[in-house]
Amino acid sequence: MNAVQGKVVILTGASSGIGEATARVLARSGAQMVLAARRGERLKQLQSAIEQEGGTAVYQVTDVSVQSQMEELARLALDTYGQIDVLVNNAGIMPLSYLHEKKIKEWDRMIDVNVKGVLYGIGAVLPHMRERRQGHVINVASVTGHIVRKTWAVYSGTKFAVRAITEALRQEEAHNNIRTTIICPGGVDTELVHTITNEEVKRDIEASMDIALTPEAIAHAIAYAISQPPQTAVNEIIVRPTRQEL
Ligand code: NDP
Repeated sequence: MNAVQGKVVILTGASSGIGEATARVLARSGAQMVLAARRGERLKQLQSAIEQEGGTAVYQVTDVSVQSQMEELARLALDTYGQIDVLVNNAGIMPLSYLHEKKIKEWDRMIDVNVKGVLYGIGAVLPHMRERRQGHVINVASVTGHIVRKTWAVYSGTKFAVRAITEALRQEEAHNNIRTTIICPGGVDTELVHTITNEEVKRDIEASMDIALTPEAIAHAIAYAISQPPQTAVNEIIVRPTRQEL
């Protein structure tokens, strides 16, 4: 039996990109998946694909920025499988822009999804993990959680926040045997670029995608963190395309 086999994994942002690839990789290793995102049709298709390969998955349409929906997601996992071993907070959006453009709705949305969504996820699983004195919270940040450039102000800010939140969680819950992992991808070819409304910025990002990784590269990093023995916590992984400088 491998170390992923049988683990109950809640995964947000499972309808595309890194989340979808992670769902497939973990399900193939025997994880029991709880898939979440807003696009229910995509989740349904993914659940069917996983089941056709012999895997196990349930899904629930969930907006991570609505706290009650994250609580319901944790409830689904407990009602279905009786436990939660891993939460992967992966859902995120990246509408990059210059601050002077005052795209205030996009600022708000990024903070709601990328920061509050992560907090609501942690809040939803922590009582159960503390009670069991075991669990693993994996938060997908970014290399932009380490460095900042023009147009990344709010997005980077949310990813710096995700790293800060995860490190504090690690310190607070180490004595409860709860592991934390920060995953920091570099460029990955996904739908994330679609959330950019500044056409010039979007073109620049699209132009950099020729060296981008496939989502599976990040999925394997997540699987590696989960598959470590219980006493080993992989606290952070940065995965960049070899040719990416920043
Ligand atoms: P995608 O756009 O392909 O996937 C984003 C996922 O998040 C989708 O499944 C989307 O589903 C979901 N999502 C967005 N908003 C919400 C919401 N309010 N509630 C629930 N789910 C939501 O992009 P990626 O796979 O690239 O992104 C995954 C993570 O990786 C993000 O956190 C991103 O910041 C991070 N990342 C990505 C990098 C890259 O280069 N691609 C680099 C560094 C980090 P739906 O629309 O159905 O709700």
